[in-house]
Amino acid sequence: MTDRYAVIGNPIAHSKSPRIHALFAAASGQDMTYEALLAPLGGFAATARGFAATGGRGANVTVPFKEEAFRLATRLTGRARAAGAVNTLVFSDNEILGDNTDGAGLVRDLTVNLAVAIGGKRVLLLGAGGAARGVILPLLAECPAELLIANRTAEKAHTLARLFSGSTACSLAKLAGREFDLVINATSAGLTESALPRLSFTYAPNALAYDMVYGKNTDFLRQARAPGARAADGLGMLVEQAAEAFLLWRGIRPETMTVLTALRGT
Ligand code: NDP
Repeated sequence: MTDRYAVIGNPIAHSKSPRIHALFAAASGQDMTYEALLAPLGGFAATARGFAATGGRGANVTVPFKEEAFRLATRLTGRARAAGAVNTLVFSDNEILGDNTDGAGLVRDLTVNLAVAIGGKRVLLLGAGGAARGVILPLLAECPAELLIANRTAEKAHTLARLFSGSTACSLAKLAGREFDLVINATSAGLTESALPRLSFTYAPNALAYDMVYGKNTDFLRQARAPGARAADGLGMLVEQAAEAFLLWRGIRPETMTVLTALRGT
């Protein structure tokens, strides 16, 4: 019988995940379907349980349900526990496993697709929401020289730095005079098109500016290109986190570069 998977979110119509997983399944010869499920606000658990009860084998979870998915899981991976959020569920007869593949997806996009080594680099992480929290542990595992978390609401950045030893924190205003090799924008400013404050740090030669938001020439990317930094959006992270979920479900890590090229072409 064909195995069923889904992505659950609200809104969900815009999601690229069904296309990504259809391309993975076709390339790796997997007999599976992958659909987009709109869950009502307040109705995530019922939607996920209903999907599992009708034969769903696993699901990706997106905005705004990653914390509800964390609570729904009956077992968590270490990286999901560290992230405090779940983006991948695996349904079986006696448990719901919750994982978080966002951080692994980001690190793989940086180190493999963009060929940026993180070890020994000065890394600035902008933002202290769910996406930032999910990537801190995988970034620290690469042994950067520094991982500084800066957020508009500074206290949230300090809370994360207290949770993750090896990272430090400050407000956006305290970045003046600092230089970084890798700057990751994990704020939602580009998505919501709310203005990002003018950032006063400098980019080191050959630095990379990475915006988790994809498919948009965001204010953050524009600010980075002006002094000549290399810039990348988060489409590679999206494809790589999907590949990690596919690996968990199917035991196969699909090839991602063809999928990334196909998505960039449309
Ligand atoms: P949250 O709502 O949890 O956090 C938003 C963060 O952005 C907060 O730190 C907030 O600061 C900050 N922020 C929002 N607007 C501004 C602004 N105008 N200026 C400065 N800071 C601002 O969102 P998430 O962490 O869940 O998601 C963040 C982004 O990451 C989203 O755009 C999402 O689409 C993207 N993402 C991409 C993925 C991918 O695969 N490419 C995967 C996961 C997320 P404050 O605390 O002060 O409010």
